[in-house]
Amino acid sequence: MEAISVQGYDEERRVIYWNKGSELLYGFSEAEALDQKLEDLIIPKYMRDGVIAAHSDWLTQGIEIPAAEMILCNKDGKDVNVFSSHVMFVNQHNQKQMYCIDINLAEVKQAKEQAVFKENMLKAVFEATPDLFFLMEEDGTIIDYHAGSSNKLYVSPEEFIGKKMDGLLPEKVDQEFQAHTSKVLDQGGVSSFEYELNMPTGLTYFEARISHLQSYRQVVVVVRDITEQHKSAEIIRQHAYFDALTLLPNRFLSLDRLSQMLNEAERNEEKTAVLFLDLDGFKKVNDSLGHEVGDKLLIEAANRLNLAVRKEDTVGRLGGDEFIVLLRALNDDHNAMDISENLLRVFREPFQIDGRELILTVSIGIAIYPENGNCASDLLRNADSAMYQAKALGRNTYSFFTEEMNVIMIRRFEIEEQMHGALERNEFEVYYQPQFNVRDGRLIGAEALLRWHNPTLGNVTPDEFIPIAEQTGLIVPIGKFVIEQALNFLKKWQTKHQQNYTIAVNLSPRQFRDQELISFIKKSLSNANISPDNLEFEITEGVLMIGKSYIDAALLELHKLGIKLSMDDFGTGYSSLSYLRQYAFDVLKVDRSFINGITVNKEDCDLVKATIAMAHSLGLLVVAEGVEMKEQLTLLDKLGCDFVQGYYFSRPIPAEELIEFSYV
Ligand code: C2E
Ligand code: CA
Ligand code: CA
Repeated sequence: MEAISVQGYDEERRVIYWNKGSELLYGFSEAEALDQKLEDLIIPKYMRDGVIAAHSDWLTQGIEIPAAEMILCNKDGKDVNVFSSHVMFVNQHNQKQMYCIDINLAEVKQAKEQAVFKENMLKAVFEATPDLFFLMEEDGTIIDYHAGSSNKLYVSPEEFIGKKMDGLLPEKVDQEFQAHTSKVLDQGGVSSFEYELNMPTGLTYFEARISHLQSYRQVVVVVRDITEQHKSAEIIRQHAYFDALTLLPNRFLSLDRLSQMLNEAERNEEKTAVLFLDLDGFKKVNDSLGHEVGDKLLIEAANRLNLAVRKEDTVGRLGGDEFIVLLRALNDDHNAMDISENLLRVFREPFQIDGRELILTVSIGIAIYPENGNCASDLLRNADSAMYQAKALGRNTYSFFTEEMNVIMIRRFEIEEQMHGALERNEFEVYYQPQFNVRDGRLIGAEALLRWHNPTLGNVTPDEFIPIAEQTGLIVPIGKFVIEQALNFLKKWQTKHQQNYTIAVNLSPRQFRDQELISFIKKSLSNANISPDNLEFEITEGVLMIGKSYIDAALLELHKLGIKLSMDDFGTGYSSLSYLRQYAFDVLKVDRSFINGITVNKEDCDLVKATIAMAHSLGLLVVAEGVEMKEQLTLLDKLGCDFVQGYYFSRPIPAEELIEFSYV
C-alpha cells in the first residue's frame, strides 16, 4: 500500500489532521505534528513567507493555492519532492480548514495524473463538508479516519481501526454499507444512503457517501450528521400532509389516500365509502366559548373518530369542523351504514372540556364508490351534498348521496355565484306586504320583503337565497340595502297618505356581527327623517339562541333608540317564554303555519289562542301572518289578535303599488 500524505490545517496553519501517510513522508508522528504550524514543520526556510502569504490570500480573498510540484522538507531537514494539492473547506463552526494532499514524487511514477485524480476525489469528498471521514481497504478494513468531533463516532477509534465494519454497526446499517460499497467497487462513482443510529445524544440521522479510489484500492466513506435537516424535513412533511391541531391527515393527504384507495378498489373490484362529516353547531361553541375550547373539542372529536374506525380506514380533517372518513373494502360486515351509526354513537357521550360537559353531534354524508362517483373529487363533492341533506334532516344523522342532491348543490353554487355583484347590478328590489288592524281594518304599515331577479336564474325566492346570503355574509350589505330602501319608501308613503305607518324589516343573525349595524340604522333613520318608533325589526328566536352578548347589547340599543322589536315565526322554534320576558319585544308574530290550520285544526286554534293571551299578558301586540281566508280573519278577531297580514289582503307588492294601495 502506498500511503499518501493528507494534512489538515486550521486558519493559523496549525495541524489539525495528520495521517499515516504524512508520518511516513515527513517523519513527524501525528503527536509531534498536531498543533504545530505548517511553516515550522515541512516548509523550507526560503518558502516560509510565500506560503504564509499564499495561505492568507486564500483565507481572505479566496485565491486558491494551485496544485504544484514542490520541494518541501522532512523532519531531518532533507528535501522531499512532492506533488501537492490543496483544498479548503468550512467546518460546522464556520472555520476554514486547508487540507493538503501530498504525493511523494520519488515514489510515484505517474504522480501528476494520480494527484489530479486524487485532488478531484478529495475535493468532492471535502466539498461535502464531512463530519466523519473513513478510509477503508477494498475488503472493508478501516485504515484511517477523520472526525470533526468524537461524539459523532458510534464506536471509538481503537475499536474500528484495522477492523472491518461488520459487527461494529447494527446489522441493518452494516448491510446497507456493504451493499453500497460493493456497488461503488463494481460501478465506480459515489453511492449515498441514509441511516439512523441510537447515539448517547439521542436518535441521530446520518448520510453516508461512499466512493472508490480505484488506483489506491481504497474506499472513502464520508458520513454526515443530517439530524437537523431530517427534523426540518419531517416538520415540513407534517405541515404539508397533516393537520397541525388534530394530527390527522389534512385535506391534501386525505384526498391522496382516497385516490390510492380507489385504484385498489378498482383492481380488487371492491366498494369504498367516503364519509363527509360536519360537526353540528360547532361554530356556536367556538363563538361562545372561545377558540381554545373549540380546538380541544376538535382534538377530542378527532380522537373519537380515529378510535371508531378500523386501522385500514382513514380519518382526515378537511378543515374547520369538517372531517372525512374513508372506508375501504366494504362488505356485509363492514358497511357504511353500520359504521355511520357507530360514529354517531361515539358522539353521543358528552365531551369533557375544561370541566365543562358539552354535547356535540355530527352530520354525515355518504358517497359510495363506484355507484356515486369514480374519482376522489366527485365522491367528495357528493358526500358533501349528502352531508347537507343530513343537516336538513335535522342533524345528528347520516344520509346517503342521491342524484337529486347533486341538483340541489349545483343550484346552491349557482345562486352563490350569481349573488356576488347582484346588489351592484341592481337585481334586488324590496316588496311590501301591508299589515292591518283586525278590529277596524285600517292599514297600519307593511313588512319589507326582499325580491331578487337575476338574468340567469330568474326570480329566486328569499327562502332559497337568504340562507345562502347569511352563510356567505352577503346578507350584511344586502340587509343594509333593505333598511335604506324601506325607510326611504316609508317617508314617501307617510307623506303621501299623511299616516303614521310602521315598516317592519327582517334582521338576520349574521347582521348582528356587523359592528356598524347600529350606527348604520341611526344614520338611515335620520337620513330618511323617520321616527324610530315607526321602524320595527323582526327577528327569530334563533338569533337569541346564539346567546352572544353582542346580540343582547344590540337589541337593548335598538330598544333604547325607540325602535320596535318583533319576534318572528313564533311557534316554529322553541317558543320560549323566557326569551319574551328577557328581551324588550313589542310584537309577536304567530307563524303562518298555525294560521293556516286555525279554522280546521283545534290544536292550532288552541295554540294561537294561548299565544295571544300570553303575549297580551306580557304587554306584547300580536300579528298573525299568512292570513288567506275571511274565516281565518274572523276567528283571529274573536281570539283577540291585534294585526294581520296575508294574501287575503295582499301579496307582497312593489313600492309603487303599495303607495296606490287602499283596502276597503
Ligand atoms: P317571513 O319573515 O316569515 O316572511 C313572510 C313570508 O310569508 C313571506 O315570504 C311572504 O311572502 C309570505 N306570505 C305572506 N302572506 C302569506 C300568505 O297569506 N300565505 C302564504 N302562504 N305566504 C304568505 P317571502 O317573501 O318568500 O319571504 C320568505 C322569508 O325570507 C321571510 O319569512 C324572511 O324570513 C326572509 N326574508 C325575506 N326578506 C328578507 C329580508 O329583507 N331580510 C331578511 N333577513 N330576511 C328576509
Ligand atoms: Ca318576517
Ligand atoms: Ca314570519
